Amino acid sequence: MSDAGEYTGYETKAIHAGQEYDQWSNREIVPPIVTSMTFFQDDPTNMQGHYYGRYSNPTRDSLERCLAALDNGKHGLVYPSGCAAITALLHLLKQGDHIVSAAEQYGGTRSLFLDYIEIQGIEIDFVDSTDLKQIDDAIKPNTKLMFFETPSNPCLKYSDIAAIAKLVHSQNNGQIVVAVDNTMLTSYFQRPLEFGVDVVMYSLTKYMNGHSDVLAGALVLNDTEIYNKLKIVQTKYGSVLSPFESFLTNRGLKTLPLRMQRHSENGIAVAYYLETQKNVVKVIHPAFPSHPQHELAKKQSSGYCGIVTFQINGGLEESKKFVQNLRLFQSCGSLGSYGSYVMISARVSHVDVPKEVRESIGIFDSTIRLSVGLESADDLIKDLKQAFEKTFA
Ligand SMILES: *Cc1c(COP(=O)(O)O)cnc(C)c1O
Repeated sequence: MSDAGEYTGYETKAIHAGQEYDQWSNREIVPPIVTSMTFFQDDPTNMQGHYYGRYSNPTRDSLERCLAALDNGKHGLVYPSGCAAITALLHLLKQGDHIVSAAEQYGGTRSLFLDYIEIQGIEIDFVDSTDLKQIDDAIKPNTKLMFFETPSNPCLKYSDIAAIAKLVHSQNNGQIVVAVDNTMLTSYFQRPLEFGVDVVMYSLTKYMNGHSDVLAGALVLNDTEIYNKLKIVQTKYGSVLSPFESFLTNRGLKTLPLRMQRHSENGIAVAYYLETQKNVVKVIHPAFPSHPQHELAKKQSSGYCGIVTFQINGGLEESKKFVQNLRLFQSCGSLGSYGSYVMISARVSHVDVPKEVRESIGIFDSTIRLSVGLESADDLIKDLKQAFEKTFA
């Protein structure tokens, strides 16, 4: 196939969109890693096509087109990390502008915002993005960006994407850019552009690449005016993903649908197991009808990521012991890989967030976040079982 064109299934696009063999001189079926950062020009007075690596690169281009297609978006841009993608977005703002941001979000996003606004003279207000009234009240005449994450990390709160887009776009002559971090569910389970947001942001480092061997980020959007601004920022400041990382991420996308299905199933299996445990105080999983946004999750997304967050009976000592007793779940600072990971959020991803703020959003020393991987669910449960037994012996 040289063009995914009329074939619109997600799985089909993950494999074919942007991968057309006839864009390559050797008609490669697998997109090659093009390392040349400059390209011969027949007409020295008029540069054509790819001409310098900072502006574009064929391997990167292939990934960007695949990502855009997967979100049913027009444009994709890839960056050397998720944080670099957020930084690129912040370059749309200028001194005196105002950001409304979700309070509950990835710790790195919060600290990046706080750092950037101080240097640039930008204002920010943090709100509970599950509460439309708080968002409405926070918007000011100089608000230029609304940024949120759904579901949030690690407490899996869902914000209503369509309602937020509608509310925010009804203010300030529709000039506020609404951006959502879609790292947790990926475009396989949730496509925010279809609910009216302007920009979808990813840490591709997580599920999208899915193999914990690439650091990368992306922005996907429909609006060509915003895209052109972002493209200029990207080429000027040089925040681009390398051909090798682009190749690996593109390769990861080919199996994303299969991986997400398994993450979703395994996550549910682990969550139901944890519910039966006497030394578990609380389990957070959006598939539970008791989850406060269970209905919203079903309405705006079509499956669950592999994150299961729970509170263990005790404090830091018990959490630490439990994590150290696990064998398959590896203690580390990431999520979304084929392998299962475990983290004490208060001590890793949210260590920079003040304790009162952390606890107000539900992250305690006893909060353990599992990123359930693709292993056999039975083995994962066996691992948790032996860790509970050892910890509470
Ligand atoms: C990891 C992560 C980021 C930051 O991405 P990097 O690739 O680490 O820069 C942003 N948002 C979420 C939800 C994340 O999990």
